[in-house]
Amino acid sequence: MVNLKSLAEEELAGFVRSLGLPAYRTRQLLHWIYEKRALSLQEMTVLPKALRERLSRAAYIGNLTLLDRSISADGAEKFLFGLDDGEAVETVLIPEGSRTTICVSSQVGCAMNCRFCLTGRGGFVRDLKAHEIVDQVIAVQRLCAPRAVTNIVFMGTGEPLKNLSNVIEAVRRMNGLLKISRRRITVSTSGVVPEIDRLAGMSPSVNLAVSLNAATDELRSLLMPVNRRYPIRSLISACRRYPLEPRRRITFEYILFDGLNDSKRDAQRLVGLLRGIPSKLNLIPFNPYDGAEFRRPADGKVEAFRDMIQSRGITAVVRKSRGRDILAACGQLRGGQSPREHPVCMSETTSCRAAL
Ligand code: SAH
Ligand code: SF4
Repeated sequence: MVNLKSLAEEELAGFVRSLGLPAYRTRQLLHWIYEKRALSLQEMTVLPKALRERLSRAAYIGNLTLLDRSISADGAEKFLFGLDDGEAVETVLIPEGSRTTICVSSQVGCAMNCRFCLTGRGGFVRDLKAHEIVDQVIAVQRLCAPRAVTNIVFMGTGEPLKNLSNVIEAVRRMNGLLKISRRRITVSTSGVVPEIDRLAGMSPSVNLAVSLNAATDELRSLLMPVNRRYPIRSLISACRRYPLEPRRRITFEYILFDGLNDSKRDAQRLVGLLRGIPSKLNLIPFNPYDGAEFRRPADGKVEAFRDMIQSRGITAVVRKSRGRDILAACGQLRGGQSPREHPVCMSETTSCRAAL
């Protein structure tokens, strides 16, 4: 039995041909799976009953299982989805005015071991397959209809560039089948330099975000082991090589840790690094969790840091971390945690708004 969602577009076309069916059946299947978000072949009433039965003998539509759903006071929502092999993955929905962003996970857990990140704590479990990434979007869209998803960020659990082939295939399907513009898709990396170059050569091209977090190798290596292999200079060179279309910028993420990387000297160094790169700096005050060894700077310090950067000509915004109360904010996703006990039916279509 084949899960139709696990097939790339050409593979699905091959499958349809192998059954001796005309090519337009492929288009119908794609439309029902990705645009109408059908949960089963039985729902595809456009297909004659006999054909649905014939298809059901060879194939099915696999779906993520919704295991848990929490809603933050600020409107962000966190979903825990069960996968076929019993693993689970988290996805976050962030409504902001007319924009609705989904933050997807690319791996179960993460192997990069950044010192400040809760995701890294649980270790690495496995890569997600392309359809498991895309399915997070399909499932959240379904749960939140009629709200339409406008933006995708690969900022959930995992290091997307360590699972690049699946991430690229997922981006292709989000773009081509879910009709989300590639300009509204952002892949975030901790700085795996050779893979940034590979991503640069891939189609469709997407926005790049780099989790910089420190302006010296000494501190960055302490915070992010990846820096020992690919130090700041090589990372910044890869960013300079990254092909940008006119008016596009690379996003740099910089967590502010109290007393560690939030001084005037740090701001100056940071500006020095980014000089000449079309960039936008996202400042993320550290999101604490139980047992964290870092502190979040006071709001005044955060604003002062932003102003120091802005006054030197670089766009810097303080990113409001959404969903902190439900541990859905940056770095608070656990990933790979064992699923909770009460599965909720996926066909439930409560609107996020109504649920608030
Ligand atoms: N692995 C990729 C994608 C995850 S993005 C990457 O690291 O870029 C998750 C973002 O949250 C990263 O920018 C990371 O630096 C940030 N982050 C991790 N832990 C955090 C914490 N406790 N508080 C604030 N931001 C955090
Ligand atoms: Fe992994 Fe990113 Fe967390 Fe580092 S910050 S451990 S790369 S998810």
